[in-house]
Amino acid sequence: MSFKVPYSHLRRLANQLKRLPGIGERGAWRMAIDLASSSPRRARDLAKALIAVTEKMALCGKCHNLAEGELCWICADPHRDNSRICVVEDALDLFFIEETGAYKGLYHVLGGLISPWEGVTPQSLNVRDLLERVKVGVKEVILALPSTLEGEATSQYVARLLRGRVKVTRLGRGLPVGVEPEFTDPITLRESLRSREEV
Ligand SMILES: [Zn+2]
Repeated sequence: MSFKVPYSHLRRLANQLKRLPGIGERGAWRMAIDLASSSPRRARDLAKALIAVTEKMALCGKCHNLAEGELCWICADPHRDNSRICVVEDALDLFFIEETGAYKGLYHVLGGLISPWEGVTPQSLNVRDLLERVKVGVKEVILALPSTLEGEATSQYVARLLRGRVKVTRLGRGLPVGVEPEFTDPITLRESLRSREEV
C-alpha cells in the first residue's frame, strides 16, 4: 500500500522513513504528515541530530557496541569484569541488560542473527573476533540471544564454536519462548541472568 498523494516531497520523506526498523507504511506516513505540518526549525533540529549521530558515532573496535571513540563506554571502563562476555544481537539488547544493573562483565554485539530467509549467514556476523577475545582471560561467555528460531540457531552456532575453549552459558528460564531479551521487563531479565545455565 502506498498513498496516491501528488506531493513528491512528502512521498520522498515517507519512503525514507519506512526503511527504518519497526516503522511500517502507516507509521512512516503518520510521521511524514506530522513533520510536513510542523515548523522548518523542528525539521532542522531533527536533521542535525540525524547527521550528528552518523558522523560522531561508530562501532566499538572491541565489542561492536555503539561508541563515540575507538572503544565504547563499557570496554573503556577499567572496573568491568573482563572475565565474562555477554553475547547479544544488537546494541538495544545491550542497553536493556545494562538497565538491569545485574551484569558487570563485557559484551559482544553480533550485529544480527543467522537467518537463511534474510540471507544472514554466520560469516556476516561479528563472530571471528569473539574467538580471539576468549583467548585472553575470559572464563565465561553468556549467550543472551532471543529464544526465536533465528536466536536458537545462532546460540547453537556460537556455542559450538566456543566449545572446549571457554565455559558457555545462556539466560535461564525466566525468558518466555519466542520473546526477545529486549522486550522483557528488567526484573525477569535480571532473574534470567542470575539463573543462567551451562550449554
Ligand atoms: Zn565495546
